[in-house]
Amino acid sequence: MEPQAKLLEVHRRLCGVFGCPITYHHALSPLDELVSSLLSHRTRNADSRRAFMNLRERFPGWEAVRDADTAHVQDALSPCTWPEAKAPALQRTLRAITEARGALDLDHLAAMDTADARAWLQALPGVGPKTAAAVLSFSALRGRALPVDSHHHRVAQRLGIIPANLAVGPAHRVLEALLPAEWDAQMVYDDHQVFMRHGQRTCHFHRPACRDCAVLDLCPHGAQTLSPPQG
Ligand code: SF4
Repeated sequence: MEPQAKLLEVHRRLCGVFGCPITYHHALSPLDELVSSLLSHRTRNADSRRAFMNLRERFPGWEAVRDADTAHVQDALSPCTWPEAKAPALQRTLRAITEARGALDLDHLAAMDTADARAWLQALPGVGPKTAAAVLSFSALRGRALPVDSHHHRVAQRLGIIPANLAVGPAHRVLEALLPAEWDAQMVYDDHQVFMRHGQRTCHFHRPACRDCAVLDLCPHGAQTLSPPQG
């Protein structure tokens, strides 16, 4: 099966499992979403949420976070992985936005088309394809952009929708190009959500539960996993 046809069939079946359309978790401003996304890298959701709330409670606004003693920001980020790296990186990103815009906000993104907004975000230090797509899709912008996290990426690789050696960064462009042009932002969001949830619930990094998988018949990795050992 061609990658696009397979993606569409997997999307259809997983939407049946998880129930599309999937409700958006929240509607943060684009800047809040950017900060949240920067904190979430390789960190459990509950921990990055705690770090985000620490910032909101300890500082009167993002300008204060930007201008604070880095040690104070680092302390607020202690629930995250690598607070010593994330604190200066976050301040660098906030300063870069201020320099580019003359103020610390991302409200101008609402007037840009998705491709331009994505390019603008990715020109910021510390902002890659996943963070840019998360800002556009998950925030109140509700843009048509596809974030690809490690679960989504692993499922797409195992199913053979993308090559096994395609890294997560370039996978964003490849996977998004496979989505039908007529899909709206909600359907693109659903696509990310169902692939991610399938990776969390069934297609685990270690010992995927292939026997319980709704797309086993489409999956070369699953066939290989379940095939009897050759004697
Ligand atoms: S068959 Fe196994 S490896 Fe393939 S998508 Fe399903 S759980 Fe993942």
